[in-house]
Amino acid sequence: MDCLFCKIIAGEIPSNKVYEDERVLAFYDIDPKAPVHFLVIPKKHIASASEITAQNSGEVAYIFEVIAKLAKELGLESGYRVVTNVGEDAGQTVKHMHFHVLGKRLLSWPPG
Ligand code: IMP
Repeated sequence: MDCLFCKIIAGEIPSNKVYEDERVLAFYDIDPKAPVHFLVIPKKHIASASEITAQNSGEVAYIFEVIAKLAKELGLESGYRVVTNVGEDAGQTVKHMHFHVLGKRLLSWPPG
């Protein structure tokens, strides 16, 4: 298993957890780009959003349910951004699908 986020899920690498259940893990980004910046990942290994299919799209729907719940709990009611980078051009560095959740600052558009 040569996947950083699979190792975090397995507890082989520590993380600062926000939330965990049998399907997903949410943890704070090690290099935050906003006052609140956490990642939500499926426990099932999916390399990126380009690998979403009818068989695994339920994990994505569930991740968005969890994000909505966590955003309320963390006081992001004035707004937040959910981003997933796909592939080299988008700057994806970890090949395990993850959704960045950024909040508690004004976020410019378009992203760089
Ligand atoms: P990407 O560039 O969209 O693939 O995002 C990968 C994210 O993972 C980056 O924002 C990194 O800062 C973050 N990251 C890398 N290693 C760790 C870690 O060990 N713990 C928490 N976040 C990490």
